[in-house]
Amino acid sequence: MSANVIVVGAGVVGCGVAGELARQGVKVQLLDRQKPVEEASWAAAGMLSPSPEGPGMEPLVPLGRASLALYPGFVEEVESASGLRVGFRRQGALVAFFGARADHEQGEFLAALARFELAGEPLTAEEARRREPHLSKEAGAAVWLAEEASIDNRALGRALVLAASRAGVRMQIGVAVQGLILEGNRCRGVVTGGAKIPADHVVIAAGCYSAGIEQVARYAPTRPMRGQMVAMEAGSAMPASVLRSMREHLVGYLVPRGDGRLLAGSTMEDAGFDKSQTPGGLRRILDAAVEMIPALENARVLETWSGLRPDTPDHLPILGPTDIGGLSIATGHFRDGILLAPITARLARQWILGQKTDLPLDPFSPMRFLKSATAR
Ligand SMILES: Cc1cc2nc3c(=O)[nH]c(=O)nc-3n(C[C@H](O)[C@H](O)[C@H](O)COP(=O)(O)OP(=O)(O)OC[C@H]3O[C@@H](n4cnc5c(N)ncnc54)[C@H](O)[C@@H]3O)c2cc1C
Repeated sequence: MSANVIVVGAGVVGCGVAGELARQGVKVQLLDRQKPVEEASWAAAGMLSPSPEGPGMEPLVPLGRASLALYPGFVEEVESASGLRVGFRRQGALVAFFGARADHEQGEFLAALARFELAGEPLTAEEARRREPHLSKEAGAAVWLAEEASIDNRALGRALVLAASRAGVRMQIGVAVQGLILEGNRCRGVVTGGAKIPADHVVIAAGCYSAGIEQVARYAPTRPMRGQMVAMEAGSAMPASVLRSMREHLVGYLVPRGDGRLLAGSTMEDAGFDKSQTPGGLRRILDAAVEMIPALENARVLETWSGLRPDTPDHLPILGPTDIGGLSIATGHFRDGILLAPITARLARQWILGQKTDLPLDPFSPMRFLKSATAR
């Protein structure tokens, strides 16, 4: 294909899509208004978990499973293309249940996993502590998810940028896209600070900022959802796997990194584009961390930060072509963009090059928001 594709936004999603297309011989320009991978893709915890997170999120599970299955090959490709390691760890995850309803919640969680044919092993509190000796004695029950993994998303971001540029992607940094060049029902490129950059196809992958690009909000009504994070030096209290705590819903999580850092997260805050960290947010994260592993009480805090998840009205990603020829969307990955980066890259390559997609795009189509707007 000799077409010229512009990808707007160099997070893990945009970098993944750009690299995948360039490896197929497509001429790709990747535009970002700032240094690549400094937004949500930098802020994330890096859990690779396709487990269902709540009602309405069902379409996400097959997408997440497919992406997790692609991960080993994706990592091998990006590591060999970039020469960098990305800290992919297939160490499983332990979900711990606290409080009087622990057994009941364990049963509900196992039933939800079974509905999607996801493997989960029920553990008693004693069995869970044999896996994680520092797990609090207050944990009443647990589920072991052997297939789950994690990745150092900051390292992944650096490697994806390098891999994309080595595949021939032309990276343009400091270029803020304001709108689209539209001719009738066709997109012919983008408008940036007065200048126009022509292209045969434009992919919007600007995370929670996508809706701010003129003419894009109707297809990608994204909005930011803040998450604060803390990194600690866990020392001997370091868990062997990802640890999540449930008390009626997800309360907190701990993600061990190979470099000795333990990441604790997170909050879910509707705070606009404000990336502050707050005493209330940090306290909730730290309380949940110490509730899971009391030995973290005196761990050294190394870093705090926050990022903006790209949320959507139905909390599902927005993937696929629009009714404007040459314009497609790859954003709105909310809490799962790191997990979903490989499948997004693959699907985008398939829909842009006219290949059959591995999975149906209907539940994620950018057209679903237009339909609901006209139905109302
Ligand atoms: C605290 C936190 C924890 C998370 N934990 C996990 C996790 O454990 N697992 C998981 O899978 N996901 C997790 N996520 C979600 C994940 O981080 C996101 O879904 C994912 O990073 C989205 O990637 P992206 O490339 O779409 O967006 P981003 O990484 O936000 O990148 C968007 C890019 O677009 C650029 N841009 C924006 N507007 C313009 C414009 N007008 N012109 C040019 N460029 C523009 C930005 O500068 C940015 O570089 C977490 C998120 C947060 C905040």
